[in-house]
Amino acid sequence: METLIPVINRLQEVFLTVGAEIIQLPQIVVVGSQSSGKSSVLESLVGRDFLPRGSGIVTRRPLVLQLVNVPPLEERRKQENGNGGKQNSQNCYPGIKAEEWGTFLHCKNKIFTDFSEIRQEIEEETSRGSGDNKGISPEPIHLKIYSPNVLNLTLVDLPGITKVPVGDQPEDIEKQVQEMILTFISNPNSLILCVSPANSDLATSDALKLAREVDPEGHRTLLVVSKLDLMDAGTDALEVLLGRVIPVRLGIVGVVNRSQHDLNTQKSLADACKDEQAFLQRHYPSLASRCGSRYLARTLSRLLMHHIRDCLPELKTRVTVLMAQYQARLNSYGQPVEDHAATLLQIVTKFASDYCNTIEGTARHIQTSELCGGARICYIFHETFGRTLQSIDPLGGLSELDILTAIRNATGPRPALFVPEVSFELLVKKQIKRLEEPSLRCVELVHEELQRIIQHCSSYSTQELLRFPKLHDSIVEVVTSLLRKRLPITNEMVHNLVAIELAYINTKHPDFTDAAQVSASVNSQQTESLQDGGRRWKNEKMTEERGGGGGEKGTAPPAGFGSPAKAVNLLDTAVPVSRKLSAREQRDCEVIQRLIKCYFLIVRKSIQDSVPKTVMHFLVNYVKERLQSELVGQLYKQPLLQELLIESQDTAQQRTEVAQMLEALQKANNIISEIRETHLW
Ligand code: GDP
Ligand code: MG
Repeated sequence: METLIPVINRLQEVFLTVGAEIIQLPQIVVVGSQSSGKSSVLESLVGRDFLPRGSGIVTRRPLVLQLVNVPPLEERRKQENGNGGKQNSQNCYPGIKAEEWGTFLHCKNKIFTDFSEIRQEIEEETSRGSGDNKGISPEPIHLKIYSPNVLNLTLVDLPGITKVPVGDQPEDIEKQVQEMILTFISNPNSLILCVSPANSDLATSDALKLAREVDPEGHRTLLVVSKLDLMDAGTDALEVLLGRVIPVRLGIVGVVNRSQHDLNTQKSLADACKDEQAFLQRHYPSLASRCGSRYLARTLSRLLMHHIRDCLPELKTRVTVLMAQYQARLNSYGQPVEDHAATLLQIVTKFASDYCNTIEGTARHIQTSELCGGARICYIFHETFGRTLQSIDPLGGLSELDILTAIRNATGPRPALFVPEVSFELLVKKQIKRLEEPSLRCVELVHEELQRIIQHCSSYSTQELLRFPKLHDSIVEVVTSLLRKRLPITNEMVHNLVAIELAYINTKHPDFTDAAQVSASVNSQQTESLQDGGRRWKNEKMTEERGGGGGEKGTAPPAGFGSPAKAVNLLDTAVPVSRKLSAREQRDCEVIQRLIKCYFLIVRKSIQDSVPKTVMHFLVNYVKERLQSELVGQLYKQPLLQELLIESQDTAQQRTEVAQMLEALQKANNIISEIRETHLW
């Protein structure tokens, strides 16, 4: 079985790399009647003397023997020295100076380097668990053997099948042992090694009978015929070994173990093996190559190898998938920087174009969860800003009293004949001023959005930037300060837009003159009679007139129109007096209101149109156009390059780790391919 050791060890590397469950080699369970030679067979498989053997019932508790492959002592020493005695290697067993050793589960801390002591401990532990007088116990003894010469494999030595209770054994000893055996061999991952002595009839083999129960197809049952040397004179096991008596699918192997006499005289396993070969050559020359302990070991190796081979495709798939994943991760970290200047230029350019693309809506990573970039700016212009302007009431904040007061103030000491234009200008300007605040707010919102795009681009599109935190911060700083620089300029321009409107109230505006005329004509129809009366009254009592006011509905005489008491009341706007307006007052108010509304709408339309244009020109487009050159100008400086392109600790470390893992995976992949191609089958 030693041929398998290097294969398993190499596979072990693969498992460690990919973190897969180590291929579970089938555990080998020996089953047979008492003294059939089970312990002897196991021993010859392991190649060491350590199991209690002998006539009568010796194995009285199951022995679960776990073989652990370890590097040779010398190699372990080197490892230990290599990492300063730290225990960080899987195969490192610091402090153990033996090539091979054993440990028991029931006394974990004790290390057995003398195999005869191991045998003694098994005997003592057997007595502890099942008494001195031939009693049995289903409680297994767990033994681990560490050696460079073993496979990672579990072997189970079981008490033999007995029929008649002896000593302290219970009445149902046969049943108890059978149940114990069944629990071990019904595990589908166990290979059943049925041991049957050649000097008893195979047809009566209880071991085979039990094996059939759990493995009717015989996929995992192997028959070992022991004690070939003890057959009656004149008989041989040829028929049995050829499978003519009972066919066994996986094979029948004849062996000669050490006799009791050999044990007593401490014959070595090596000598026993030689003698076994000589015996087989002599008595079964035609079968000699297919019998014996060595052949049995090879057969088991082959079976284990088949098992491994069956597991390999899945392992290979796993390695391939992991390789792809790690390769992708490695790619995402980018290459280590070689040409700093080129890298910086490339990243800056990429950032600038990502930034512009996000504004233009041509970015590769289109967000679906929320509006961003250009779309959001559009939303700000047309929804946020547009709606705010629309919602402004042209006459908001202007009471009729305010209007009247303004009219009166505008006419000065003279009584007004017509609604004075000055009051209209005064009032409409007041309303136009109200457009400035939302316009400036619009600039602010767009500025905020442009700021947000920086974050969006640096964390989302330009993944490379995350590698270089310094460069990232610097880019953010440059763009932020560029934006900040443009903010007052844009604000000033927008402020001017409103100031321009305030500078000249263009009553000759084509949209206004039409409306004004309509308004005036409506007014004139309504007020014709009043005007007549007014004219008359003007001729008669000119001096008494003090602006505004009038009789009822125009037909009323002007008497009392200029009553000083009323006039004082009207003027006293600091303490607004609520009173019913006269018809003339109402009319005047209405005219002014109509005109204000009309003119305001014209200006609002123009502001609603020109503010977005201004913001685009002075802020958005400006930044878009200058971004790249600004970034290059500020960052592309020889002394800065190195510093800006220092990778974040994380990235550098992760890349190294991922690269190492990828290398290990590639190695693992090679190992699997090699094993699949070259070994045994
Ligand atoms: P177990 O009870 O099935 O574990 O059987 P053991 O391995 O303890 O062997 C029982 C006895 O049979 C021991 O004294 C062995 O020396 C002896 N024995 C086992 N196999 C052979 C064999 O092939 N030839 C001879 N001559 N004796 C054997
Ligand atoms: Mg035994």
